Amino acid sequence: MRYLNHINGEWVTAAREEYKDNINPATGEILGHVIQSAPEDVDRAVQAAKAAHKSWRLVPAPERGEYLYRIGQLLKERKEQLARTLTQEMGKVLVEARGEVQEAIDMAFFMAGEGRRLAGQTVPAELPDKHAMSVRAPVGVVGIITPWNFPIAIATWKMFPAIVSGNTVVWKPASDTPAMACEMMKIIEEAGLPKGVVNLVYGSGGTVGNALVEHPDVNVISFTGSSEVGRTIAAKGGQLLKKVSLEMGGKNAIIIMDDADLQLALDGVLWSAFGTTGQRCTACSRLIVHRSVQQEVERELVRRAQALTLGNGLDEHVDVGPVINRSALEQIDKYVQIGQEEGATLLSGGQIAKGELLSKGYFYHPTIFTNVSPTMRIAQEEIFDPVLSIIPVDSFEEAIEVNNAVAYGLSSAIYTNNVNRVFRAMRDLDTGLVYINAGTIGAEIHLPFGGTKHTGNGHRDSGLAALDVFTEWKSIYVDY
Ligand code: NAP
Repeated sequence: MRYLNHINGEWVTAAREEYKDNINPATGEILGHVIQSAPEDVDRAVQAAKAAHKSWRLVPAPERGEYLYRIGQLLKERKEQLARTLTQEMGKVLVEARGEVQEAIDMAFFMAGEGRRLAGQTVPAELPDKHAMSVRAPVGVVGIITPWNFPIAIATWKMFPAIVSGNTVVWKPASDTPAMACEMMKIIEEAGLPKGVVNLVYGSGGTVGNALVEHPDVNVISFTGSSEVGRTIAAKGGQLLKKVSLEMGGKNAIIIMDDADLQLALDGVLWSAFGTTGQRCTACSRLIVHRSVQQEVERELVRRAQALTLGNGLDEHVDVGPVINRSALEQIDKYVQIGQEEGATLLSGGQIAKGELLSKGYFYHPTIFTNVSPTMRIAQEEIFDPVLSIIPVDSFEEAIEVNNAVAYGLSSAIYTNNVNRVFRAMRDLDTGLVYINAGTIGAEIHLPFGGTKHTGNGHRDSGLAALDVFTEWKSIYVDY
């Protein structure tokens, strides 16, 4: 299988015929070869998007929404096949892959409806014989840069609001998940979207992503990925006075108070820390636990973590799939060593999984550290893998303080049965997503999604808030 660019309605090769392997992280098998594009290919795609924008912006918004409705129908029909492709190339277990495709379906239908709701505002004018109104105007060509951990859902959080509001798109997907991008483009093509409205360019972040960010005809960059890359994009976008929307990393925590329902809390922690093999931006990587229940929580958590079945996510009995690639395995090993050097106690995991089948892929045992202090590197830096740090605290106030004492601000959760603590947590946890008596992952996507501090730069993905990224308010005054 060769994955080619899709520009102006056609599958095309790049300026240079160079390919990179796409590898199944569970088996090491080569799934296909991905074209590696150059800045010239990005320019070609941007010119196609710019030309398509001239007519796409004039298509009535309800009709633009109809295309999304058709895309949603096709996603729904192909849900199982898409989920299997996703598991094969990214590694998440099938039940999660189905959930991710469902998010894309939900987003298609939600945004299809927005075609009929893209409302502006009218206000009574202060002067006689004057009409005052604001409309949402499309921004033009949108550059979309997406990560590998949610290769289809995150793309749709950006692409669907962008196109329903009259923009055209150039999409650079993550290098590790080209197959899902290819499947999405096939659906877009089949839904009959006019050529050039969505264009796909494969290649490395440093070349293709960077060319997209620097291109003068790209009006908005919508990026999801690491804070490290986001920072460089923000700097370049700032120089070019380009609108840049950034959704970045997290160091998310769950708080378990002494009055919590412990069984419920343990379910939430296990799922949030080790679901998707810890590779979610919202994954729980810190467990802040009241000292009076610490021992019980640790004992039960270790038991449950060690009972998780590792393996190929296509097997319905598997709980935890592989990490994305070999460098992720090295990254976990590095942090396990750092944690030990810092004086934390390793309770479980801490090693690469062995065995005839597991050794072919990138498997790591779910890892738990305890007696972690809030300032240790394993409690501060995003590892983005199945590594959980337990931080004991003595009070509710200390728990909130520890939760907030990180550079990131994506997701946090608290387990408590005290209604006053619930409301104080809702007020004081300084993250973009807050969960009460639920884990840190699994956000419904029609509310604003994103984070504070180093997680974002004030924008939000998905839901109605995403429309603010892809439109400009145009205020119009008519004298009569
Ligand atoms: P990443 O390395 O930052 O890559 C994200 C995307 O940016 C990829 O498409 C990548 O291309 C591209 N890229 C890399 N360097 C670039 C550059 N210099 N200029 C422009 N684009 C560039 O992140 P990742 O490893 O794919 O994803 C994991 C990160 O995403 C974690 O930090 C996670 O927390 C974050 N994330 C955040 C959210 C959220 O909503 N807040 C959601 C999911 C994930 P290549 O693949 O070719 O390198």
